[in-house]
Amino acid sequence: MKTQVQTEVDTAAETDVNPFMVYHFGKIKNDGNASMRNLLGGKGANLAEMSSIGIPVPPGFTIPTTMCTYYNEKGQVLPNELKDEVNEAIKLMEEQTGTEFGSESNPLLVSVRSGARVSMPGMMDTVLNLGLTDIAVQGLATKTNNERMAYDSYRRFIVMYADVVKGFNGEDFEHIIDAAKAKAGVEQDTELNIEQLKEICLELKELYAKLSGEDFPQEPREQLYSAINAVFDSWNTERAMLYRKIQNIPSDWGTAVNVQAMAFGNKGVTSATGVAFTRNPSTGEKTYFGEYLINAQGEDVVAGIRTPLPISAESAKAKGLEKQSMEEVMPETFAELTAVFETLEQHYTDMQDVEFTVEEEKLYILQTRNGKRSGFAQVKIAVDMVEEGLVDEKTALGRVEPGSIEQMLSPIFKAEDKANAKDQLIGRGLNAGPGAASGVVALTAKKAEWYKEQGFPCVLVRTDTSPSDFGGMMAAEGVLTVRGGATSHAAVVARQFGKPCVCGLTGLLVNEENKTITFGNQVIKEGDNISIDGCTGEVFFCKIETSPSEISQAFIEKCIDPKDSEVCGHYEKIMTWADKFRTLKIRTNADTARDLNVALSLGAEGVGLTRVEHMFSDEQRLLLLRQVMLAKDEEIKTLALNHIEHFLKDDFSALFQTLDGRPATVRLLDPPMHEFMPHSDGDTAKTAKAIKVTEAELKSSLGDMAEHNPMLGFRGCRLGILKPELTRVQVRAILTAALELNNALIPCKPEIMVPIIMHENELIHQRNLIDKVAEELFAELNIKVAYSVGTMIELPRAALQADEIAKHADFFSFGTNDLTQTTLGISRDDANHFLPTYKNGVSDPLTGTGNFEVYPDDPFQTLDQSGVGKLVQVGVKGGRSTSENLKIGICGEHGGDPASIDFFHRTGLDYVSCSPYRVPVARLSAALSAIRN
Ligand code: PEP
Ligand code: MG
Repeated sequence: MKTQVQTEVDTAAETDVNPFMVYHFGKIKNDGNASMRNLLGGKGANLAEMSSIGIPVPPGFTIPTTMCTYYNEKGQVLPNELKDEVNEAIKLMEEQTGTEFGSESNPLLVSVRSGARVSMPGMMDTVLNLGLTDIAVQGLATKTNNERMAYDSYRRFIVMYADVVKGFNGEDFEHIIDAAKAKAGVEQDTELNIEQLKEICLELKELYAKLSGEDFPQEPREQLYSAINAVFDSWNTERAMLYRKIQNIPSDWGTAVNVQAMAFGNKGVTSATGVAFTRNPSTGEKTYFGEYLINAQGEDVVAGIRTPLPISAESAKAKGLEKQSMEEVMPETFAELTAVFETLEQHYTDMQDVEFTVEEEKLYILQTRNGKRSGFAQVKIAVDMVEEGLVDEKTALGRVEPGSIEQMLSPIFKAEDKANAKDQLIGRGLNAGPGAASGVVALTAKKAEWYKEQGFPCVLVRTDTSPSDFGGMMAAEGVLTVRGGATSHAAVVARQFGKPCVCGLTGLLVNEENKTITFGNQVIKEGDNISIDGCTGEVFFCKIETSPSEISQAFIEKCIDPKDSEVCGHYEKIMTWADKFRTLKIRTNADTARDLNVALSLGAEGVGLTRVEHMFSDEQRLLLLRQVMLAKDEEIKTLALNHIEHFLKDDFSALFQTLDGRPATVRLLDPPMHEFMPHSDGDTAKTAKAIKVTEAELKSSLGDMAEHNPMLGFRGCRLGILKPELTRVQVRAILTAALELNNALIPCKPEIMVPIIMHENELIHQRNLIDKVAEELFAELNIKVAYSVGTMIELPRAALQADEIAKHADFFSFGTNDLTQTTLGISRDDANHFLPTYKNGVSDPLTGTGNFEVYPDDPFQTLDQSGVGKLVQVGVKGGRSTSENLKIGICGEHGGDPASIDFFHRTGLDYVSCSPYRVPVARLSAALSAIRN
């Protein structure tokens, strides 16, 4: 087994004080290594690491992330000394490359790129070909004997500089190039000749001068200082901030800036540029997966402006592009490249995402990073790497995000549904992000966001995507692009966020003006239905219903054999390893045998919460509860209670039978009463009849019962104390069901849980009542069954008084939904009026900008660890101070949230209980917590 190179974020603080303002990389001077990513960013750290292991990397230097923090704290200024260090570093690059900044015979050109601790693909800015001036462009032409390439690079630089450094609208500059192509009667940039390119450069500079009021800068160092500032500025663009929010990346991490000598992929037919993954990032297969463009620069591939060609002969053949792959066109360089892939994978022991450039047959590696991959690929690569002996099981598990398991469980299109829609199948693009998506066509990111707000699932359809489409991609169910390959921005982002994505559907015409999309003679409009299959690349102009995933089909519906599904095989392996390392037990919240069966198929080890009130959703049963609560006639009440005991017993029997000896926690009734009372006139009339009172009498009783804050009102144990007959029938039903099972030799020891306890006396009351009812029942039936009585801890006072409460409880279960509601004073029902705004950020009173985040997460989804979490810790400590081995679980929604599960693991809980479909995520999260802590 190899020692793994540290590539994950090193949270152990690297030194705060930064002794250098620049860190060199390259053969001659190399200051960094892969473990310094907090300081140098992922890109900078890996450039240094690659240099040190002999990978061909053009030399350069990294300005660390601490400088970005400085820049932002000091109001967008950098220390004066930085310029001196940058100038020194440039000198060293000049020495190493034998070039000179601004030279008329042999100019140094550099790229200036961002690079944070964790990769944020396409979210920040880059400037290429920096150093070109009216003089240097001639120097480049002379040196390379390639005047066309020199002016091609110059025009690219002017546009990028205007866009990134000056913030001018890039499209205004692109218009000049489009107009020149139209005038020359050519379609591709590569078809423009030298004179046309020179003319374009002149026009671009004129537009620049007009917009900025000054000439295009002719001093390379000035260009460089401005570009460094611009890259630091791009840390705070809207899209970068949105990305950070979604990915939970702290805004004070900052980005590094990497300045690197340019390698030229646009020097003619022996030059090229490309992006490749050492394995397929969509499926996880162990095949070289990448794309390249001859005579082009890196941005052309990443931005998806030209559809690139596959690097491997096999993929080219599969796409009908015989003889066009890099493997066939540049066989020697391809062999060199794949040797580098092997070295990198072995060195980093992970799948790599590599950017490369071939300059007149010489290969350069410009970047490597751990490749982003779909959930399916995460799982397959993890499993394969263990089998290849590259990593151990723990490391492999650490490479699988809990969300990817959710992706594996998400719906697909069934083969027969696709066959039925075959007349609407319009084509097949690249299967860039697995999964099925169906919805209405949205042609812009804004429109996708709008559809989402209106509640319509949509598919974002774009000619190509740019990072500014990020918000729309997040809002859409899936993404379809006309151009761009499987390494384009759209594909990388889609895979990362589990969005189904089809790229490069050549032949599709997107007309934003007419709001139509056309393929051949088929036209549909924005708002019409479309379906995309990101596993196969198929696109249909119609709606196709999605169906359960292979995992659902194999383990829940049991309609396919898991042995016939590779996905199921991988899933089972990951889950087996997870179960091996986790210490937390995983239970489920289930109210019916059906839900419970789903949860058990997905690995639940018992029930942590059955909400008895959910057994009253049927109209007839609801009426019975209303009779108990509202009838004046005792006979009606008694009859209703008998019925309730009867059907509850049947429901519990079904649950206990399904559990087959696993633990079962049944929580006594906890209905916020308003949810169970009649609201419409028709319902009121029916209820009045059932309880034999007039409608007016019923309305009067309802008026008496009405509460302003039902969530803080007559619910939980308060109901059981004031209406003991309700506790009585529930306990009888639970215990009779358990007795029946025991008689059938199925072990069953129910755990009866009392809700909404705030004072130990409430629990004492209910416990005494439960024990008395049990005693009576056992005497009546002449047989006993073991049971335990515990309580929910879901009010702050209960957590604070846990030591007293534990004297009367056999177990605790934290109800973090109510504990959050009552600790934060935010109603579970009304939080949406303001919480999303708190999370998205409001206007900052000091700066007037809209990025003051009041509260970072939804506390009802992910536990507020510093507030509610503290109460959980107090509750655990208090409970166990009275009863050392007190069993403690959690059954609020947070039981299925990975970050919260990590907290519960660290706090020493015995189990988490979550909804059935989150069980696999909880199993994996629990294992990851055990491995981490
Ligand atoms: C809770 O409060 O966390 C809980 C599980 O109970 P309920 O959601 O039913 O109030
Ligand atoms: Mg509750």
